[in-house]
Amino acid sequence: MRFGALEAGGTKMVCAIGNEEGKILDRVTILTETPETTMPKLLAYFQEKEVEALGIGCFGPIDLDPSSETYGYITTTPKLAWKNYDICGYFREGLGVPVGFDTDVNGSMLGESTWGCAKGLDTAIYITIGTGIGVGVLAGGKLLHGMQHPEGGHILLPRRADDTYEGKCPYHGTCMEGLASGPAIEARWGKKAAELSDCPEVWELEAHYLAYAITNYILILSPQKIILGGGVMHQEQLMPLVRGKVKEMLGGYIQTKELSDMDSYIVLPSLNDDQGILGALKLGIDAKMADI
Ligand code: ADP
Ligand code: ZN
Repeated sequence: MRFGALEAGGTKMVCAIGNEEGKILDRVTILTETPETTMPKLLAYFQEKEVEALGIGCFGPIDLDPSSETYGYITTTPKLAWKNYDICGYFREGLGVPVGFDTDVNGSMLGESTWGCAKGLDTAIYITIGTGIGVGVLAGGKLLHGMQHPEGGHILLPRRADDTYEGKCPYHGTCMEGLASGPAIEARWGKKAAELSDCPEVWELEAHYLAYAITNYILILSPQKIILGGGVMHQEQLMPLVRGKVKEMLGGYIQTKELSDMDSYIVLPSLNDDQGILGALKLGIDAKMADI
């Protein structure tokens, strides 16, 4: 069977066709403009490929409550043209096939738990540290939704005493995203994050905030694996700093086999940057099975 997969992002839309084995057969990237210009292009692609179902991993916030009248909508996004937009309904009507829907980070989590380094695990988290920060959560072998979906990138963090930056988040100032996203690094230090490789103080502070948040996720969710993706993690010096600080912050309070091997506990994504699109593919496969 041929399934459609859409990784819907604020700057680009990645569309792909794949099969049940997680093999990507075709892929195109389309720029994210307004729904009026972008959506017909996406629909035409999936129509031509005659997909059996479509899975969408989407930027958010989105409505994932099946009992809600606005299920399948993008809701309060700062990307104004997409606010309160029925993205699922558009495809369900246009394609006449089941449509699976979740957040982009839950999608990446699902890709990793289906075909990657979190395969077979009960509980894990996927954190993307890029233009924004998002957290996808797998709990009890399933993606966690609750009343909407977790927004772990916006947890409130105390600003470190030596940091005077007021924070980038328009809602919370110094939440995790406000302190540690790519744009926050750029605003604090006055240079693009990728150009700050030679400044150890930048990555020491970044690792502090990431480790602070990760320590709290460990204490609350008890994940068996933590995957860190997104553009900021391309900074190779960051991962060992984060692992060291998490260990320090936990203070030896939790003793597990996972925590005794930090190198395989906190890891980079394992699917060659295809974790998002593969997760969307799995959302499509699951939608076909459930016929939703
Ligand atoms: P998005 O979050 O928009 O989907 P990315 O995950 O690629 O995209 O994240 C983009 C962010 O990552 C930008 O803020 C950029 O500054 C930052 N970034 C990209 N490459 C690097 C790098 N090598 N080192 C540090 N930061 C980087
Ligand atoms: Zn915030």
